[in-house]
Amino acid sequence: MDHVLGLKCVLCGAEYALDEVDYVCPRHPGAQTGPPPSQTGGREPGPGGDEGILDVIYDYRRIGRRFTRAGLARNRDYTIWRYKPLLPVRPDSPVPPLTVGWTPLYRADTLAATLGLNQVWIKDDGRQPTASFKDRASAVGLVRAQELGRAVITAASTGNAASSLAGLCASVGQRPIIFVPATAPKAKVAQLLLFGATVLAVQGTYDQAFDLCLAASREYGWYSRNTAYNPYLSEGKKTAALEICEQLGWQAPDRIFTSVGDGCIIGGLWKGLRDLLALGFIERMPRLMGVQAEGSAVLYNAWLAGTEEITPIVPTTLADSISVGIPRDRIKALRAVRQTGGEFVTVSDEEILAAMRALARGMGVFAEPAGATAYAGLVRLAHQGRIRPDERIVVLVTGNGLKDVDSAMQATATAPIPLEPTVEDLRATVTRLGLSH
Ligand SMILES: *Cc1c(COP(=O)(O)O)cnc(C)c1O
Ligand SMILES: [Zn+2]
Repeated sequence: MDHVLGLKCVLCGAEYALDEVDYVCPRHPGAQTGPPPSQTGGREPGPGGDEGILDVIYDYRRIGRRFTRAGLARNRDYTIWRYKPLLPVRPDSPVPPLTVGWTPLYRADTLAATLGLNQVWIKDDGRQPTASFKDRASAVGLVRAQELGRAVITAASTGNAASSLAGLCASVGQRPIIFVPATAPKAKVAQLLLFGATVLAVQGTYDQAFDLCLAASREYGWYSRNTAYNPYLSEGKKTAALEICEQLGWQAPDRIFTSVGDGCIIGGLWKGLRDLLALGFIERMPRLMGVQAEGSAVLYNAWLAGTEEITPIVPTTLADSISVGIPRDRIKALRAVRQTGGEFVTVSDEEILAAMRALARGMGVFAEPAGATAYAGLVRLAHQGRIRPDERIVVLVTGNGLKDVDSAMQATATAPIPLEPTVEDLRATVTRLGLSH
């Protein structure tokens, strides 16, 4: 892996060789090996988290010699692995067979018109193999685990990271052990179980499931696919930014909207964009727009307050995938927004439901609540007149609506029209509803 120089701590700047550390910077208290929370009376994570997340550092000079825009144009591999020379895996490592990445980027003129904008694109990551953006990260995490020869992979998740890991593991015969809050939506749990994962349903919050999973990883040596703990996940997530720029002919958009829970997606997008700038593939940095639910707005609050410290909350939003009280990737997320001149935005659950309706009816894209949240953020800013009509806007849809059918039913605010199985009632109904012309 001569294209990777090492790992760098986002808190203290310490640098490590790839084989020196598996996860976080060992210099910070959160990284200490300790007994599971159950044996310490339930250790609460410190405010703001105390883990030194690592960032993968590349040798862009070396990469630039063998990885070019022209080479990509000839590459017929339409998956995230077309960017393998820019990912932290060995060039000859086998990759899972599922098609991860290269999701469609739709030009959404009808939606744009309703917002008074000219150029809006929707990138539909509900089209990933397990129907969420998380497949990008799971795929890279899985390849790393296999490079290290680890038998078991573990993850804590609000649902999608887990079902994603389980699906990718199933595709290569790897064993996943998953921690989810017992309240995770049924479809996501169904995916997990059907993929054959061992599922531990924690009678508590996602944040508690996360801490238990870390404890298990330390105690049993299971490979951890935990957000903002495993440094390779952001690298998988960055592939969405690489795709967006390539799909737009290397003309970077003005803004990219994404929903934010832990902050790993937005941090990953920023990483991908920095890679492309360093390689000279794009000329300017888009503004990264992080959209949070009002009931789960910890990073928005920190951004407003001008700090990198966070105040944990008990989150309340129907967008379960971004219902996070202690955002684990706070540093990368806050820097992604601040250093690109972006913004954080909050939206209500009502606005999220309205965005689900708009995406479905104006573009035919069926999003889960967290998947439609980015679009809700764009709607809010557009209505406030804070987006110029000529700005080139990309909105990420991060998860498929089939993941959470109860919320979809809540969003639709319509019901099927009952019909007797007779032609008479058909005629009466068509006339009553004025459908005949
Ligand atoms: C995980 C997830 C998010 C949020 O990603 P973070 O990295 O936690 O900010 C958004 N939408 C969906 C559908 C997700 O599964
Ligand atoms: Zn450090």
